[in-house]
Amino acid sequence: MPDCLFCKIIAREIPSQLIHEDSQCVVFKDIQPQAPTHVLIVPKKHVSGLSACSDEDKPLLGHLQRVAAFVAEEAGIASGYRLLTNNGRSAGQSVDHLHYHLLGGRPMNWPPG
Ligand code: 5GP
Ligand code: ZN
Repeated sequence: MPDCLFCKIIAREIPSQLIHEDSQCVVFKDIQPQAPTHVLIVPKKHVSGLSACSDEDKPLLGHLQRVAAFVAEEAGIASGYRLLTNNGRSAGQSVDHLHYHLLGGRPMNWPPG
């Protein structure tokens, strides 16, 4: 396993506020929330980001989006939320383990910064 923050959270070596877990992913609260609801949807498989995914990851990527919709429903934000991934440093990626941010509970501006 690489020396990876999110792999350590998945392995329970670092605590998190976990709100969903299944065989393929975990969902936990972001430590620096940017909206009333701000969670991270993280595959258990270590892959550094979206650009590092391959065709074999298509089912996993679809699963992550279905989980996002489920979590949004559970959080009461299904009427308006944003799902995004930062890919690469210039896009703001700071943790090199694929993750989607799910944000909601406030109006979202467009375009994002
Ligand atoms: P990125 O910048 O890579 O798109 O997103 C990484 C996210 O991970 C950031 O929003 C940051 O607040 C969050 N984060 C960083 N370290 C931790 C941590 O130890 N625990 C949790 N729950 N979130 C973290
Ligand atoms: Zn990892």
